[in-house]
Amino acid sequence: MRLDQIFAPGRASISFEFFPPKTDEGWTSLYQTIDKLKPLDPSYVSVTYGAGGSTRAKTVELAGRIQNDIGINVLAHLTCVGHTADEITGIVQQLAAQNVDNVLALRGDPPGGGVWTRTPGGFEHADQLVAHIRSVSKSFVACAGFPEGHPQCLNLRRDLEHLKGKVDAGAGAIVTQLFFDNADFLRFRDDCRHIGMTVPIVAGIMPITNVQQIKRFVTMCGARIPNRLLTKLESLEGNPDDVYRAGIEYAANQCRDLLFHGVDGLHFYTLNKSPATVDIVQRLRA
Ligand code: FAD
Repeated sequence: MRLDQIFAPGRASISFEFFPPKTDEGWTSLYQTIDKLKPLDPSYVSVTYGAGGSTRAKTVELAGRIQNDIGINVLAHLTCVGHTADEITGIVQQLAAQNVDNVLALRGDPPGGGVWTRTPGGFEHADQLVAHIRSVSKSFVACAGFPEGHPQCLNLRRDLEHLKGKVDAGAGAIVTQLFFDNADFLRFRDDCRHIGMTVPIVAGIMPITNVQQIKRFVTMCGARIPNRLLTKLESLEGNPDDVYRAGIEYAANQCRDLLFHGVDGLHFYTLNKSPATVDIVQRLRA
């Protein structure tokens, strides 16, 4: 089902992100995770797109299995990295053949870091990918947004204009990068609305369950951890159970506040694990 049939004003969607595992154990564990998360009745789940190689085909395979065998709506991520326009058309067709009618159109990052360069015959920015997918398919297309600005953006205003370019090209929803300070998200949402973006804006939530791991993530994606949260987590670092409890408590409160402010959706970065997401969603529904 296309996500525009799922998003509804006044009813926040709940969704979970998974990535295609690299090992057999990883696949077993992922399907166990999905088994545990399915009873939460997610509006949809998303499947990330890897930087290259066999994991890319696995995105299509996993998306199809979740959509058809497990029966949950899927939003498949797709990036411009290393692809020509014709290859993108082929992947979108493969997804549609698996009844996956929703694509999160992303630029992606250069594998191994470095400066972004367009693949010959491919796309420079995600706005072109959005427009291309819209022109060759009937799929619903979403795009990424960055409440604190994309790490390579020259300034927030310019970044917002680029985001509007994606919406104007046909993106019907924005899924945000993870953030920990709701003030950043609410300001970003106001700014989006102010310059005419009316599509649903889904908040990306990453429950912190491991201090070193979250430090690595924020270094990569440019998100900021508020000092009070960081010092609290660091003070608990010697006891993983306490870190887990504090991380869940923080994320649940963050979600409650976003729901109070009428967020269009909550998208949980699960890292293919269930306990934190189950704990948070159960608290929200209690
Ligand atoms: P773009 O929208 O192209 O923006 C990239 C940069 O270029 C920004 O600084 C922007 O301001 C600028 N820009 C945009 N348009 C223009 C323009 N027309 N002219 C000039 N400058 C412009 N990566 C993966 O590899 N696989 C995934 O599955 C994946 N999933 C993600 C899911 C979410 C929700 C998010 C937030 C990110 C995800 N990423 C993923 C990471 C993403 O690919 C990177 O953050 C990437 O650097 C930016 O992607 P984008 O689609 O926002 O790019």
